[in-house]
Amino acid sequence: MALLEVNNLVTKFKTDAGDVQAVRGVSFKLEPKEALGIVGESGSGKSQMMYSIIGLLAENGVVESGDVIFDGMDISIKNFKNKRDYNDFMRKIRGNSMAMIFQDPMTFLNPVLKIETQLIEPMINHSSLSREEAKRRAIDLLKLVGIPSPEKRIKQYPFEFSGGMRQRIIIAIALANNPKLIIADEPTTALDVTIQAQVLELIEELKEKSDSAIIMITHDLGVVAKLCDRIAIMYGGKIVEIGTDKDIFYDPKHPYTEGLLKCISNPENDDEKDLTPIAGSPPDLLNPPKGCPFVDRCEKAMKVCKDYEPPVSTIKQGHQCACWLLDERAVKK
Ligand code: SF4
Repeated sequence: MALLEVNNLVTKFKTDAGDVQAVRGVSFKLEPKEALGIVGESGSGKSQMMYSIIGLLAENGVVESGDVIFDGMDISIKNFKNKRDYNDFMRKIRGNSMAMIFQDPMTFLNPVLKIETQLIEPMINHSSLSREEAKRRAIDLLKLVGIPSPEKRIKQYPFEFSGGMRQRIIIAIALANNPKLIIADEPTTALDVTIQAQVLELIEELKEKSDSAIIMITHDLGVVAKLCDRIAIMYGGKIVEIGTDKDIFYDPKHPYTEGLLKCISNPENDDEKDLTPIAGSPPDLLNPPKGCPFVDRCEKAMKVCKDYEPPVSTIKQGHQCACWLLDERAVKK
């Protein structure tokens, strides 16, 4: 049984200018212990899709339709009597069987509380551990994520740690209750390049050691290359291609995925001349295109792409792509 199943999720944001259609019918499954990368540029809907799933949308965000099944439970908002019941329920799930690693550790950590309090409170609230047992586990977790002298450092405040160390603490908090699912939203974006590599290595190491499944949200295909078993490419509020890491890196089918790959530098070939940015800008999700969301930037666009949404084609089991190029009817035209 899949750990997480999302079917046809639609999320909108109410604004003065109209409804922003941030997530437009997204479906995917995540197996236990699997690592899935969700990749897309800013505004592609990747983070809002995850916030819709875990109940952390901003006030003006509304999940209009879709089902979210987590660990055998239907946690779709429509099943709850009101938003308060839904929020109470989701609060229990988050920090227990689901955990988040956010982009900026400073906005997540409370600056006036010692690391000890921030680590052990979620354990005491969500498990049967005593304060002493929770403290011992907190020290073990700090050791696990590579914080030196954890017995001493647990007594310190967030400002006494570097950016990379703070992100390690966030990871320790996320692991505290042995979650079945860890969602990492751009976990390395706020860090400098060397620290980014260290944090990614740590997440990779923890993936091997823990039983948690991971969803890694990022704008950088390079970040998911080593870590993720499968990768979903999002564009214009939709998943336009999903497949294994090999499918995406060695046999991409969507012109947007191909474009993203051309933007990654190859460490074996430092000739940056080969990097080609994708021309144009993402679609306006206040008025998304009727047909393919990538149509205005796609060099291979056909007439049908403008007027009709591309159907999802299955290339092989687990590798799917929404592009008219894969549909015989369009190629004939
Ligand atoms: Fe390009 Fe058409 Fe495929 Fe969209 S459906 S990616 S516009 S070829």
